[in-house]
Amino acid sequence: MAGNENRQLHMFFFPFMAQGHMIPTIDMAKLFASRGIKATIITTALNAPLLAKTIQRSKNLGVEIGVLVIKFPTIEAGLPEGCESFHMASSHGVQQKFFKATTMLEPQIEQLLQEHAPDCLLADIFFPWATDTATKYGIPRLVFHGTGFFALCALECLRLSEPYKNVSSDSEPFSIPNLPNDIKLTREQLPDYLKENVESTEFAKFFKRCRESEARSYGVVVNSFYELEQDYVDHYRKVMGRKAWHIGPLSVCNKDTEDKAQRGKESSIDEHGYCLKWLDTKKPHSVVYICFGSIADFNESQLTEIAMGLEASRQQFIWVVKKEKNHGEEEWLPEGFEKRMEGKGLIIRGWAPQVLILDHEAVGGFVTHCGWNSILEGVAAGVSMVTWPVSAEQFFNEKLVTQVLKIGLSVGALRWVSLEGDSVNKDAIEKAVSRIMVGGEAGEMRNRAKVLGELARRAVEEGGSSVLDLNAGIEDLKSIGC
Ligand code: UDP
Repeated sequence: MAGNENRQLHMFFFPFMAQGHMIPTIDMAKLFASRGIKATIITTALNAPLLAKTIQRSKNLGVEIGVLVIKFPTIEAGLPEGCESFHMASSHGVQQKFFKATTMLEPQIEQLLQEHAPDCLLADIFFPWATDTATKYGIPRLVFHGTGFFALCALECLRLSEPYKNVSSDSEPFSIPNLPNDIKLTREQLPDYLKENVESTEFAKFFKRCRESEARSYGVVVNSFYELEQDYVDHYRKVMGRKAWHIGPLSVCNKDTEDKAQRGKESSIDEHGYCLKWLDTKKPHSVVYICFGSIADFNESQLTEIAMGLEASRQQFIWVVKKEKNHGEEEWLPEGFEKRMEGKGLIIRGWAPQVLILDHEAVGGFVTHCGWNSILEGVAAGVSMVTWPVSAEQFFNEKLVTQVLKIGLSVGALRWVSLEGDSVNKDAIEKAVSRIMVGGEAGEMRNRAKVLGELARRAVEEGGSSVLDLNAGIEDLKSIGC
């Protein structure tokens, strides 16, 4: 309450059930809790165990985080049993049902708000009903998008001015008006839900509701740091008139090796020890790391092209492949590939300890699908990138990396294709990987990336821009009586 400044603020954190949203939300909860806020995460039964170890380690260090478990309406929404995480929604149709399931969660959240009477609800952008729910209980709703300021500004400018309607073909470039930089895109790089008439599909209607509920929310918390995209932080605040606090990069707040190793899931390679020992034997900046996040799902012919491109590039690599072996067989892998690559390349099947790998000094480049967490983790590690956007807002993130920060180059994926991505041939992969790893251009990009990495670390140190903004956000909440 106002006037009772010593009372402990209680915040509910409610992440969307996907790795790219859960992982930064746990970090956020830890961060707020470490500054004296009572933090409670709300999640579902099958997602709760993924948080358990992090929460226990945090507790051992004196930082307590509560967890409240709700029931995910899998059956009611017509989802396959056990489908409580977005990465398990393997088609457009199942994804739609997944979003439908999340709209059914509102009564359970209402009940928790009633029982626990928190002061603030920080809910993911994908819960468009959350602003009204929070209002009903007289508390502010903060939004977490999971992406950065650049993409948020680009999306809004595109929505308002629709420049993609004035080009004659899907591949003709256009500029996004009113942005601090001249950013060029094509229509085929835009998310479907942006191009569709807002009333024409379920997805388009859903994203419209998300946008409206953000506009009515109290403000936005962003996993980013001022020095990374300052023009866009200012643009978002001034031009778009939103309250926003940048508090990242959240991954850097993890100091403990186990915390870094067990982000999202347990890594599938020998307690992460093997690949780090392998990296220890390599020279600085001599290994390229390839990973496409938790959702993108390349088909077998694309995996074959990647294998051939990597081999032709002659670079050492760690490559994360989501596909599990089918009865020990991997028909997409070129014959003799693993034998030829022995000592030179490592394939991790399943889940990799990404932050630990990127932070290793042997890693010099990162081939990424441009998920925002991956971009920030790459930036914080000071590595340059080959950008290979697949879907979501990843083509915007690519432009930030290649056109604004100039710490990476594009592999040449031209089209937004949900899950599978645009196809890219082995020659383009070979060329991009070689360019990022060797030669003068690679050195320049890496030098710029190193500077940003240093700025990222400073942002989350005491007195750094993100710590100051986090404090400002907490003070703001207290000033309105939270
Ligand atoms: N990640 C990981 N190991 C993997 C794949 C992904 O630790 O093998 C983590 C990665 O570090 C990041 C998150 O999962 O924190 C993926 O989020 P991002 O926004 O990059 O992509 P998304 O999965 O949402 O497409």
